[in-house]
Formats: sequence, C-alpha cells, structure tokens
Amino acid sequence: MKMPKRVRIFCPFCGRHTMHEVERVKRGRPSSLNWIVRQKKRRSGIGNSGKFSKVPGGDKPTKKIFLRYKCMECKKAHQREGFRVSRLEFVE
Ligand SMILES: [Zn+2]
Repeated sequence: MKMPKRVRIFCPFCGRHTMHEVERVKRGRPSSLNWIVRQKKRRSGIGNSGKFSKVPGGDKPTKKIFLRYKCMECKKAHQREGFRVSRLEFVE
C-alpha cells in the first residue's frame, strides 16, 4: 500500500483538520520484565524446554502497522488504530 507522507486529518489538539506528517512506529523488543520472558530464559539450556520447544508457527503473513501522525501546526503527535498491510511505502 502506498501512503502519502503528508495527510490532512483531524488533530485532536487543534480541534480541526490540519496537515500531518506520517511516521511509522517501530515496535520495541519485548520487555524482559515480562513473566514469559523470564520463564523462557529459565527453560533455555540443557534438556527439553517444554512448551517452548514448539516452533512458533502460525505467523501471520502481514504485520500490523502503526503510524504516528504529527501535526505540523501544534507539533504534537497522535496515533490511530493500526492496520494490517503487507508492505507500506511512503510517497511524496
Ligand atoms: Zn495540531
């Protein structure tokens, strides 16, 4: 899908439609504070790693993409609901 770099959408801070710069939000790595991460770490090493032995299959062919919209007037950014798309390109 092709996405324009600048879109005119509603800014919740200005309360009206303004030009927004679109920026893709990169997903961060899973936090090590997560209990499943600690469990995985504990199981890794010698022997069967239990439920983590399974190959993590069933990965979806498309990834959900989150975009950040930065208002060019108040310089504040807001986010919208992400959507699934195989490829995202920015066009001028
Ligand atoms: Zn604004």
